[in-house]
Amino acid sequence: MSTKLEYSDKVVDHFTNPRNVGEIKNASGVGTVGNAKCGDIMRVYLDIDDKGFIKDVKFKTFGCGAAIATSSMATELVKGKHIDEALALTNKSVMEALDGLPQVKVHCSLLAEEAIHAALWDYAQKSHVTIDGLKKPKSDIHEDDHDHDHGEEEE
Ligand SMILES: [Zn+2]
Repeated sequence: MSTKLEYSDKVVDHFTNPRNVGEIKNASGVGTVGNAKCGDIMRVYLDIDDKGFIKDVKFKTFGCGAAIATSSMATELVKGKHIDEALALTNKSVMEALDGLPQVKVHCSLLAEEAIHAALWDYAQKSHVTIDGLKKPKSDIHEDDHDHDHGEEEE
């Protein structure tokens, strides 16, 4: 009957010291997704070489601690991997890598999986490649009409 939010040490670590924060200029693929439940917005940038390996990955997340921690861990898990492996990444494996999330925050981990899928979709469109098993992202947000200045990161 506890409503207390309990975060693992790994979640706290990735929240206070997130990996791969930033953006990639001329990224191979960019994916932006959001969830209405706690207002998290996540953008993932992928730099993919001509063999389909993810050379670099960056993210920007405007959201809750769980969203930031899962973004950070998800980018760590796909970095250096082939796009097929990145596609196979699930929110479950991200959560396992973080030693779990409080039940009410599980939806936040879905965002990381969806943002990576959205970025892979963008890459596939731009590069005219087909990624087997990749579906068009359902919650892709298009923000071309206006720019958000909040959450800018200084390198
Ligand atoms: Zn959240």
